[in-house]
Parts: sequence; structure tokens; C-alpha cells
Amino acid sequence: MNSTISNLLDLGNQKFSPKGKVYYQLSVPELIEHALINREGSLTINGALAADTGKFTGRSPRDRYIVYDDETKNTIWWGDINQALDVKYYKMLLDKMCQYMEKINLYIRDGYVCADERHRLTLKVITESAYQNIFANNLFLRPNNNERFLSIDWTIIAIPSFEANPTTDGVNNPNFVIINFVEKTVLIGGTGYTGEIKKSIFSVLNYILPKEKGVLSMHCSANVGKKRGDTALFFGLSGTGKTTLSADEQRMLVGDDEHGWDHNGIFNFEGGCYAKCVGLEAKQEPQIFNAIKFGTLLENICLLEGTRIPDYNNISKTENTRAAYPASFIEGALEPAVALHPQHIFFLTADAFGVLPPISKLTVEQAMYHFISGYTAKVAGTEAGVNEPVATFSACFGKAFLPLRPGKYAAILGEKLQDHAAKVWLVNTGWIGGAYGVGKRISLHYTRNLIKAALEGDLDQVMYQKHLIFGLSYPTICPGVPSEVLSPRDSWEDKDAYFIQANKLAEAFVANFKQYEKGVSAEVMAAAPKKIDYRKGVVS
Ligand code: ATP
Ligand code: MN
Repeated sequence: MNSTISNLLDLGNQKFSPKGKVYYQLSVPELIEHALINREGSLTINGALAADTGKFTGRSPRDRYIVYDDETKNTIWWGDINQALDVKYYKMLLDKMCQYMEKINLYIRDGYVCADERHRLTLKVITESAYQNIFANNLFLRPNNNERFLSIDWTIIAIPSFEANPTTDGVNNPNFVIINFVEKTVLIGGTGYTGEIKKSIFSVLNYILPKEKGVLSMHCSANVGKKRGDTALFFGLSGTGKTTLSADEQRMLVGDDEHGWDHNGIFNFEGGCYAKCVGLEAKQEPQIFNAIKFGTLLENICLLEGTRIPDYNNISKTENTRAAYPASFIEGALEPAVALHPQHIFFLTADAFGVLPPISKLTVEQAMYHFISGYTAKVAGTEAGVNEPVATFSACFGKAFLPLRPGKYAAILGEKLQDHAAKVWLVNTGWIGGAYGVGKRISLHYTRNLIKAALEGDLDQVMYQKHLIFGLSYPTICPGVPSEVLSPRDSWEDKDAYFIQANKLAEAFVANFKQYEKGVSAEVMAAAPKKIDYRKGVVS
């Protein structure tokens, strides 16, 4: 490790001579005081700290790099997702950052990831702002009784006001995230969005765990039944419902975003949740609503004018408003956050085309096909007139965080599905009754009932129907959900329009999957959707 940095970590060394103050492992109340004095945010009526993250209110995946060196050159899946950065630029930026850091106040926090001790990595997070430090405290696992770690595995330096010079520093923009697997360091500059802190370490775990230990790392949430002790995983891209659906009063939360699966079972990587707040209501999402209290960090939310009451409907700063809180703020969260092998796996997709059934049961081959595809849809912008959704495919439901080729993760998942006979379900948390603009998003109430029915075996004995294009088996009856909602074709008024839309989506699946065909068996390929020649009246 670079000597300047290691000196900084020992605090009190001569070479790194901070002119500012260095605050080590402050308690959350102290950090809140600092945040208020630093004018990073304000206290809300529920006791949470509301801070703004600055210019960036979301991650910037195009500005994330991995240092190209002997460790990474032959192992990383290089390309758009994992952009290579020459080690000389890393060194230059680290030096510049260290010089810059000498002049400012710093907050340092030690924590760790992986609730299963055998996989634990200790972290040192160095931040410029107090709110970032609260984030690190809430999202990572916290040392017991302020125990000091004997050694630190990974160091994360996050300095939003430090910007790179794209003309000299080898990066494309002033903001950057750089992962160095040899030095075990992450450098974050030019952005104050805290999601970069957690997702960079997620990327690190997505490299180390599968590669070195054969452990599957997963972009999913997890919970466990109170009575049955049955574990469920919820995979899905951003906004599909991982955090929302894992917070279930009937079940115990394991974690809302990142987990590992080894030969013993599953474990959370993190120690907290990062929940979207847009449209948050106590009635719909009581657990998340109640987790927003003293100690929680709210990001980029607006307050009702003249009050300290958060207005979750106001998304004028960003739609990506967030609450970061320790998992223990969710009532009944498991501690430690480890659980048995999953019995149910849900792939969540927010299909804004309204094509996929609200729930379908997948064969192992279909599960592999949909895992590799990683489909969801984004609603493009909110401007008037722009209401055509865009299909998004992100391998393993988390392509942006995969340093290794998707086939690596898919292969481990395939083995685990065979070994543990988990049931896999595809759940469309998106549109029914028509595409975005015509239909509407399926209610959270129905989605919860569908998941409950799957978990309780209520979908085991009912009749299923096979989707003509996607080949998916979907139940025709489900307690607490009207039957016409279960069949997308039935829920659309215009049946012709339904098949045209479904064919289009099938085409998009097939086009996306071309890149993965080589490494995939004929059985998995057979799970691809097939367009049908639909003319009025031909298919009833
Ligand atoms: P990220 O990876 O960005 O954290 P996520 O998968 O955790 O995303 P959530 O935070 O759970 O996604 O977001 C789902 C959003 O969609 C929430 O705002 C939730 O209220 C809303 N929503 C509306 N209808 C549904 C539904 N039927 N199922 C799930 N979520 C729904
Ligand atoms: Mn989430």
C-alpha cells in the first residue's frame, strides 16, 4: 500500500500531515452534529438527517474503472462495464488526492462486510463529509463494542470535492470511481453520491468470492419465514422491488441488496439498507417508513415548505431519493444476517411493456435463461409525450457490478439450483392491462399476495397456463389476486396490441441473448421466447 495512505491510516505520522482535523469512528449523534454544523443537511421531524449529495444523485457507471495490472489483466471481464485504468494514473490520482486531503477535515470509519465470519473483509472508509460517514456506518457491518480491527483489508477514500483532470489523469470526467485489486483500495472523487461507496465494495466481493472461494455473490434481497424458516431471495435490477418486497411484516429480513451463497447457506454482505423513498407511505410500506428515524440518513429529499416534514412525493431534486439505515431499524431483522439455503428464488422485473405475467414458475433452464438475460424495463423520462418504455438487459440482474464474465456467476447458480432444488419464480412488478401509458403498475398489494402464495405453497396445486410466446407457466388462480390479473392477455383490452407488444419484447430478448449463446446449453437456449405469427383470430 502507498506509504502516504498507510501513514494516514495510522494517523499521527509525519509524512501525511493533515492541516485539518481527522475524526475517527465518531458516533452517529456526533456525526449528525458535524453534518449540521458543516451545513450538509438538516434534521427532520422524524429525527433523520436529510442531506443532499450534490451534483450526483445517482451512480455514474461510465466513470468507474478497474486498475489494469498483473492481478486483473487476465481475470477481469474488460469492456464498457469494467474499464481499464493504467496503474500510473491510479498512482497520480492517489498522490493528488492525498495532497488535497491534507488540507481538509476527514472522517474515518472502520467497518466490515459479510455477515458470515469466514468471508469477512474489514474496511476503512475515509470520507470528506459527515453524512458519507453516517452512510458507511449504516450500510456496512459495525464492529462490536467499538473493537479495533487488527488489520484492514480494503480502504475506500471518498472525497466529493476532489476532481480529476480528464486531460491529464487518464479518466473521462472529473468524477471517478477506481478499484485497485492489488492495493485493495477504492478511490472515489468528484461525486458525493453514497451509493458509489457501497456498490464499489459490492464489485470487489463479486470478484473475490466467486473467483477465490466458489461462493456465489448476488444482487438480491433476502428474507426468512418466521414459522417455516424458509429462505427467499429476490433478484432484480434497480426499482424492481428488492428492498420493498424483502421488508415483509410476516418475515424476517436478511438484507435488501447484496448477498453471498456458499455451501452453508446465504449471508448478507451489508449491515444496512438503502431504500428508495419516492412516494413512500406508511400504509403501503410500514417497515421502511418506520425505519426513517434518528440515525437514518435521508438523501436528496425535499421538506414540506416551512416545515421539517419530509415530502416523499416531491422528487424535484431527483427521483432517486433514498434512506440509509442499519438493518436493525427494520423490525425483526435477522442478526447475524445469515440463513439456510433458499427454497424460493424470485426474479423481479418491472416490465413496463405489460407483457410478462405477474408471476410465473420457471424450470431450471428458464431460470438460467432469465438470470443471464436480467430483463427489466425503464420508463423513459417523464416529459409529456415520451411514454415508450425501454427494455434493459443486465446479466445476472447486476451486470454493472460484475468484474467477471456473467457465465461464471450463472454456472455457480446453475449448480446451486440443482443441489438445493429451490423453486424459481419470475415476478413482474411492472405494468398490467397495457404498456406504460395505457395500463398501470400492478399494485404492491397484489405482488405481495402473489409472493405470499408462492411461499406458502398455495400455487403448487392450481392450474397453470403456458404463455404462447415466452413459454412461461403462470397460475390461473391465486388467493387475494383476481384471476384476470394473472393472465396478461386477459388483462389487456386490445388483444392484438398485446401480441404485437409481446412479439417485440421476444425479439429484444433474443437479440440480447446472442452475446451469451456460445457458453450456453441447448436446453437453456430452448427457454428463449419464440415469436408467433399472430393474426386476428388465429390465436384464441
Ligand atoms: P435498488 O437496486 O435501486 O435499491 P430495488 O430493487 O431495491 O432497487 P425498490 O427500492 O424496492 O427497488 O423500489 C421499488 C419501487 O417501486 C418502490 O418505490 C415501490 O414502492 C414501488 N412499487 C410500486 N408497485 C410495486 C410492486 N407491485 N412491487 C414492488 N414495488 C412496487
Ligand atoms: Mn434496494
